[in-house]
Amino acid sequence: MWPSSYLERHLAKQWIAGPDIHDAIERARAFNRHDITAMINYLGEEHTGRRKIDEATEKYLALIKEIRKSRVKAVISMKPTQLGLRIRPELFEANYLKIIRYAKRNSVFVWLDMEEPDTVQDTINVYLKHVKTGNTGICIQSNLKRSAKDLHLLVRHRAKIRLVKGAYTPSQSEGYHTQASVTSNYLKLLKYLIRNDHNVLIAATHDTTMIEAAAKLAGNRKNITYAVLNGIKNIYAIELARSGKTVYAYIPFGEEWIAYSYRRIKEVGHLSLIMKSLFEKQPI
Ligand SMILES: Cc1cc2nc3c(=O)[nH]c(=O)nc-3n(C[C@H](O)[C@H](O)[C@H](O)COP(=O)(O)OP(=O)(O)OC[C@H]3O[C@@H](n4cnc5c(N)ncnc54)[C@H](O)[C@@H]3O)c2cc1C
Repeated sequence: MWPSSYLERHLAKQWIAGPDIHDAIERARAFNRHDITAMINYLGEEHTGRRKIDEATEKYLALIKEIRKSRVKAVISMKPTQLGLRIRPELFEANYLKIIRYAKRNSVFVWLDMEEPDTVQDTINVYLKHVKTGNTGICIQSNLKRSAKDLHLLVRHRAKIRLVKGAYTPSQSEGYHTQASVTSNYLKLLKYLIRNDHNVLIAATHDTTMIEAAAKLAGNRKNITYAVLNGIKNIYAIELARSGKTVYAYIPFGEEWIAYSYRRIKEVGHLSLIMKSLFEKQPI
């Protein structure tokens, strides 16, 4: 439910466009004015009831229609567990197919978010089954040890990759747990992707050292792009776009604001930054 108290609403608004599609479209327009393409996500995850899963699928179809109608520059990004992965991978696949086919007819690109480690294999399986559709990409997390192997496979299939550090905590054996090891693996995966002349790569991070490394490794290649989350380092994103880079901003909307906001708060790390951001005016 969209927050009713002022403080919660203010907190959610740091990162989330608002409860409705038109909020996301308006925010997308604001980014478009700075030459930044929107990557719109409808909030929701870990759904185990058919009503919510069907509703999320319909919402993405409506979003695609609205992107087309409003002519904003936007792609979409969705979560597998929002579309039924926790019930059965086949249910997720059916909803995913419905969305990517409609998106293709409307020339809208579709990204798959990556979630908890136990969803990674099913997400990759479904993605690879339909990779030839051509208008889809998948997120890979550098805090997982398996990601190097996953990337080898994905690159062989000419997948389009969005590389992130990872917002979910893996177990001791399956992941990296220090900031230094996650970042070092990020750089390793980035190098691998760029050296293998990768199809399309988004360096989705606010870590300026990683962004600069990507830009240096990529040289003049145009298929390396950058992405930030709405509400984080947006001024930096505008500067990147101004310098001629292709930049995306991930814009969530919808009423299920808590899990997403919690992950962002966890990343900020300390209270003073959260308090500061609460009273800061959004740059866009
Ligand atoms: C476009 C995009 C899509 C994403 N999709 C996914 C996904 O599908 N699955 C997934 O697991 N994760 C996803 N993420 C989140 C990602 O995994 C990280 O959790 C998140 O980006 C923070 O890590 P970082 O790479 O920015 O590096 P960090 O080292 O965490 O941060 C670098 C710097 O950015 C700033 N910063 C970072 N986070 C915040 C914050 N919350 N508030 C204020 N400042 C901050 C700080 O200055 C920090 O020093 C996505 C991120 C982006 C940008």
